[in-house]
Amino acid sequence: MQLLAGLNLAQRAAVTSPASVLQVLAPPGSGKTKTLTCRVAYLISHYGHNPQNVICCTFTIKAAREMRERLRGLVGDQIESRLVLGTIHSICRRYLVAYGHLIRIPKGFGIADTSDTNSIIKRICKRLSLSIEPKIARARISSHKAKGKTLEDLPKKVPKELKEQEFITVFHEYETALATSKLLDYDDLLLRCVDLLRAYPACVSNVEALLIDEFQDTNIVQFELMKLFASANRKITIVGDPDQSIYGFRAAEIENLNRMRIFYLETVVINLEENYRSTSAVLKLAQDVIEQDENRPQKKMKATHCHGTRPVLRRLPNPNEEALWIASEIKRTMTMTGGLLIHSDFAILLRSAYLSLLIERALTNAGIPYRMVGGQRFFDRVEIRIIIDYLRTISHPENNQAFLAIVNTPSRKIGETAIAEMLKLGEENKLSLWLVAQKVVSGELKPTKKLTRPAEQELTRLLSLIKAGRQMTDTASPAATVPSKLIDFVVKSLDYENYLKKKYKDDHEDRIENVKELVTHASEVLLQTGAEEPLATIAGVDQVVSNGGQEVLAQFLANIVLSTDVETEEGNDKPRVTISTIHSAKGLEWPVVFIPAIYEGSIPHSRAENTDEERRLLYVAMTRAQALLTMTFPIMQSRDQGESIITQFLPNELHHHVSRTGPLFDDRVIMDIASILRRPVPSQEDLAKALQSMPEEDSREDDIWPSDGSRKPFPMLAGDAQGLQGFGRPLGDFFSDQ
Ligand code: ATP
Ligand code: MG
Repeated sequence: MQLLAGLNLAQRAAVTSPASVLQVLAPPGSGKTKTLTCRVAYLISHYGHNPQNVICCTFTIKAAREMRERLRGLVGDQIESRLVLGTIHSICRRYLVAYGHLIRIPKGFGIADTSDTNSIIKRICKRLSLSIEPKIARARISSHKAKGKTLEDLPKKVPKELKEQEFITVFHEYETALATSKLLDYDDLLLRCVDLLRAYPACVSNVEALLIDEFQDTNIVQFELMKLFASANRKITIVGDPDQSIYGFRAAEIENLNRMRIFYLETVVINLEENYRSTSAVLKLAQDVIEQDENRPQKKMKATHCHGTRPVLRRLPNPNEEALWIASEIKRTMTMTGGLLIHSDFAILLRSAYLSLLIERALTNAGIPYRMVGGQRFFDRVEIRIIIDYLRTISHPENNQAFLAIVNTPSRKIGETAIAEMLKLGEENKLSLWLVAQKVVSGELKPTKKLTRPAEQELTRLLSLIKAGRQMTDTASPAATVPSKLIDFVVKSLDYENYLKKKYKDDHEDRIENVKELVTHASEVLLQTGAEEPLATIAGVDQVVSNGGQEVLAQFLANIVLSTDVETEEGNDKPRVTISTIHSAKGLEWPVVFIPAIYEGSIPHSRAENTDEERRLLYVAMTRAQALLTMTFPIMQSRDQGESIITQFLPNELHHHVSRTGPLFDDRVIMDIASILRRPVPSQEDLAKALQSMPEEDSREDDIWPSDGSRKPFPMLAGDAQGLQGFGRPLGDFFSDQ
C-alpha cells in the first residue's frame, strides 16, 4: 500500500493499529507527526471513516497547512478539504461559529489577540488608577482561565490584600470589555467550546476519530476538550514526547499522558525509536543533556544517519561579537558547501525573543535575508497591523479594540479627549464605539465636548469606508478574493503609500514592500488551502452555515490572530534564515541550527521556576538540527557584568561531544550533509568555485575581531585549550592562555 511505503515497522504498527485509543510516545525526529498524518489517511482509506467526521489537531497553523498538503497527496484534495484539521484554537472557533448561538455566543464574534488583551488591561488599570502591573494581571487572568476557571471561581469574599482586590477588579472589567466588543480571547475559545460540548454533546455526535499532535503540551482544558470531542466514538490517537514538554509555564500538564491512560483503560502505547532527523553526533549530545533529568524514564533513541560533524561550542567576547560571528559563520557555511545549502536551511533558535535584536542587526549588515518567528510577527508590524485592524473593523465593527486602533490612524484630528468621551458614552449606554460614532455623527448622542467640524467630517468618512468595506465583503465574487480586495480597497482609500512615505521617511520603502507582501499573502493563502468546508450536518442540531465573504474574511483574520508566528507562508518569496524562539520551533527541523546565549540566566532563564523544563527546552532546540548544530555564548554579557557562566545543562567532558571551531567542510563533511538531506553532492567544480569566492577574512579562524584591531583577542580563545571540563563555573578559571 502506497500509504505505508517508507515507514518503519513501528510506524506502520501505529498507522494501522486497530486500537481505539492509541498513544504514540517517541523522541524527537522519530516520525510522530509523519505517523499521525499517515494514520489520518489510513483511517479514511482503510477503516472507511468519513473525513468530515475526523478531527485532527496540530500545534501550529503552519503544521496544519503542511499536513493538508501531505494529505492531499495521500487521499486527494476532495477528501482533505472536508477534514476538520487545524490548531485546537481554530477548531474550537469553527465549532463556536457553527453552534455558538446555542450557548448565546454572539454571531460574528471576533477574537482578541495578545495586543488587544494587553491594551484592554492597560486601559482598565489606567482608568481605575490601579497599581497592579498590567502584564502581571494579564498573565494571571490567562493562567486562571487555562486551568478552566472563570470569574465565578474566584473567592467570593473580598480578599484582604490590595493586590488581590485589584486583580479581581481587573478580571471583572476585562470580561466586561470583551463582552462589549463581542470578543473572545484565546482561552475563551477553548473554555466556551467546553461549555458548548457539555451542554450540546450532539454537536460532536458525528465524530468518528480524533487525532492530536504534541499532546505533551496540552493543558487541563484541552484534556477536557479531547474527552468531549471523542465522546461519541472513543477513538483517539495522540502523539507526543514527555521530554519535549515546554509549555508548563502556560499550564500545560505532562500528567495528561497518564491521565489519559487512566481515563481510557483500553489505551495502547506504541514507542518509536529510530531518529530520521539528525546526525548521531547531534543526538548523542542532546541525549546526554536530557538524561541529566533523573526522574524521567530511560528511553531508546537510535540514529539512522551517519555520525556527522561534531556540534560546535563557541565562546565570543560579548553578545555583539556573538551575533557577528553567527552571521559570518552562516556565510562561510553557505560558501564552503558550494551551493548545497540555501538561507532557508539555517535557523537561529533563541531562549528569549529579545535576544534577536543584535542578531537581526548583524544579519542585516551582512546582507543575509531572515524572517523572525515567534517574536514580532509579520502581522504585528505597525504598517501591517493598521491594515489588519481596518479589516477586523470591517469584519466585526463592534470590536472596540480594532475600532480604537483605526479611528485616528491615519490622523483624522480626532484627539484623545474626543476618543475618551466616546468611550465614556459607550460605557454609559452599553454601546460599542462603532454605534456611538454613528450616533454622534447623526446627533443622537451628544458628547459634552463637541467634535470639531473637520473631525466630525472625517469620522463620517471613516464610517462610510467601513460600510463600503462591508458591502464589498458581501458581494465580492468569488468569496475567496474578499481579503485581497479589501486590503486593496483600504490601501487606496487611505492613500496609504503616501501616508507611509510621509510618516516613515527612512524606511517607507520596506514598509510599502511589506504591505505588498500582505496583498500577495491574502490572495494566495485562501486559494492555496481553500476555505474550510462547513462542519458535518447533524440532524436536530441547528448549525449556522456561513460560507460567504463574511466567513472567508473572518477565517482569514482568525488565522492571523491565531497564528503563533510568521505563518505567511513564503510561497515564491526568497529563501530566508529563520530566527525563532525555541518555543515556536517545536516540531520543526532545519539542516543547520544555531543556539546563541547558552549561559546561566538565559537558559535556564533567570526567572524560570522549573529547571527541568528549561533543560527540555534546550533539548528541543538541539533536536531541531539535522546536520550541523552550533551553540555560542558571550564571555561577558555587558561591560559591567562579570563573566557569563555557561549553562549547567551541557554534559561534563564536553570535549568528547563538541568542537570549538566550525567544521572545515572537507569532502567527507559535505557528503555527510548531502546524504542526510538527500541532496546531490555539489560538483568539485562548484566547490572549487566556492572556495575562490571565499571572503579574505576566514571566520574559521578561532578569533574574529573588529578589523580596526582595537582590541586584543580574548586570551582564552587563543590556542587549543585543553578539554572543556568544568562548565557551570566561570570560564575564566578554565581557559587560560597557554
Ligand atoms: P518532533 O518530536 O520534533 O515533532 P517527530 O517525531 O514529529 O519530531 P517528524 O517531524 O514526523 O518527527 O519526522 C522527522 C523527520 O524524519 C521528517 O523529515 C520526516 O519526514 C522524517 N521521517 C520520519 N519517518 C521516516 C521514515 N520512516 N523514513 C524516512 N524519513 C522519515
Ligand atoms: Mg512532530
